[in-house]
Amino acid sequence: MARQVRRAFKYRFYPTAEQAAELSRTFGCVRLVYNKALEERTRAWYGEQRRISYLQSSAALTQWKKTEELAFLTEVSCVPLQQALRHLQAAFANFFAKRAAYPRFKSRKRSRCSAEYTRSAFTWRDGRLTLAKMAAPLDIRWSRHLPEGAEPSTVTVSRDSAGRWFVSLLCQDTIPAAPATDAAVGVDAGITSLVALSTGEKITNPRHERRDRARLAKAQRELARKAPGSVNRDKARRRVARVHARIVDRRRDFLHKVSTRLVRENQTVVVEDLIAGNLLKNRKLARAISDAAWRELRTMLEYKCAWYGRDLVVVDRWFPSTNLCGTCGTVRAELPLNVREWTCGCGSVHDRDVNAARNVLAAGLAVTACGDGVRPQRGTSRTGHSSAKQETQRATAGIARP
Ligand SMILES: [Zn+2]
Repeated sequence: MARQVRRAFKYRFYPTAEQAAELSRTFGCVRLVYNKALEERTRAWYGEQRRISYLQSSAALTQWKKTEELAFLTEVSCVPLQQALRHLQAAFANFFAKRAAYPRFKSRKRSRCSAEYTRSAFTWRDGRLTLAKMAAPLDIRWSRHLPEGAEPSTVTVSRDSAGRWFVSLLCQDTIPAAPATDAAVGVDAGITSLVALSTGEKITNPRHERRDRARLAKAQRELARKAPGSVNRDKARRRVARVHARIVDRRRDFLHKVSTRLVRENQTVVVEDLIAGNLLKNRKLARAISDAAWRELRTMLEYKCAWYGRDLVVVDRWFPSTNLCGTCGTVRAELPLNVREWTCGCGSVHDRDVNAARNVLAAGLAVTACGDGVRPQRGTSRTGHSSAKQETQRATAGIARP
């Protein structure tokens, strides 16, 4: 059965000088409004244990626009500013629900610049997109087709650290049904590979990654040698950003292929709930596997399972997947990171990563059979296509498969 989903389509575009100036101004205003509202909320929360609502923030924004020093806020489209307040609201909702840390200020240097436009702030005519306060449509490079007759409901414009401009269009799309199957797979972040599967397969990083990383290290060394504030330093910083952006792009393409394949081939996908901070504490491990890649893969598996009607099962991360013998069930005390292969007392020889993936699968299937122990999913509301709720229900109501 085909499914209707909301899906974001992202493209590069090339703004005119005028459009670039308008967007840069908008990014600045978005950041200012977000930070100012965060400051007010922080004062209310830590000072008086009082929560400020979105409506109160919105009313405050109206007042700021009337003051002399913030009157420039009226020069940009008001929609991205309102959306920034909505994002802040979502960040606080996650914080209060203990799903996320306290919201942080957007820094000029570290944050990606972006502005979100809802339906009233852009026009979409004959496949041409024109944003509020702009005369001409954006020069978009349509690297792939939008779904037939698609009407974007939200448009997000962003600029990355390498200075590239992107526009993301949220559209209704039809996802074709995936082939029926009973297969189930356990997936674990590997040490010798990017991911290990319970089938015994190990998926390694894309082949460019090692070379790209060497280039990144070289660019970073060059940057460190340049005098602060110099033109050359600026150039070197751009170069670092470009290499980094290429690594991220290539890896994302690769992860899309991996996640699509896993979801199409399996009815049940079991993953371990690894929290980022935990992995990163171990520097060796952080070097061997890219934590960001694992998190990204998890997110992709989450929404693609929802798209294709598959079951994503998340097992508790305290479950001893690595040092448990999948054959006899003995738990070893400790398994140092440099041990790739080990022999259990029962005589079984295990590949460390594959054994872990098999244990994850077994735990996931046991969990769906008992109907408990599945941890609630973390939402991905920032991207606007959160499917967290649906997934939790699917996972909790999951059916045991032999
Ligand atoms: Zn054993």
